Amino acid sequence: MADTAQPRRKLKRGGYNSTVETKTKAKIYPIVLYGDPVLEKPAETVTVFDEELRTLLDDMFESMYSAHGVGLAAPQIGIAKRIAVVDCSFKERPEERMVLINPVIVKQEGKQTSGEGCLSLPVFRENVTRANRVTVRAQDGYGKEFETTGEGLTARAFLHETDHLHGKLFISHVSALKRDIIRRKIKKLAKAGEWKYEPPE
Ligand SMILES: [Zn+2]
Repeated sequence: MADTAQPRRKLKRGGYNSTVETKTKAKIYPIVLYGDPVLEKPAETVTVFDEELRTLLDDMFESMYSAHGVGLAAPQIGIAKRIAVVDCSFKERPEERMVLINPVIVKQEGKQTSGEGCLSLPVFRENVTRANRVTVRAQDGYGKEFETTGEGLTARAFLHETDHLHGKLFISHVSALKRDIIRRKIKKLAKAGEWKYEPPE
């Protein structure tokens, strides 16, 4: 999920398609854009919790920070597995740095409406109504099961990232009219060579 505290950023040509190495040797994955089929298919359950997975988790956090995001799901880096990372504090509070593997939403309460964005749909932001308090059950990088409850932005991130793992994007929560406007804008960007894919039909 895009950082809602940040102003709308302009889409730079190639800006989301370059792989760079950081000093800590974390791999910064390029973010997959809307139109890539990996974003719209259900991800697979994770069954192996090994060093390779934990390295991937570190790389996902660094890739998310590098893209100024507060949530990232594995399909957004082209990996169709049920893995998401969330940090709504953006490095400020370690306790908000969360790994969600095979997450399941177990409880939703209340309602909130605010602007929501997605790293796979940069420059687009729409109001989305979601539950205000959300409990998720998931596994950590070692396979240990846990349950956690988030409110406000964290609740929104739990729902947004879990949606990704079901092949669902936030624009499925906006009106058909707004979705159509977004798709037409993306078509134009694709024509101009500024978006890799044509929007799916
Ligand atoms: Zn997203």
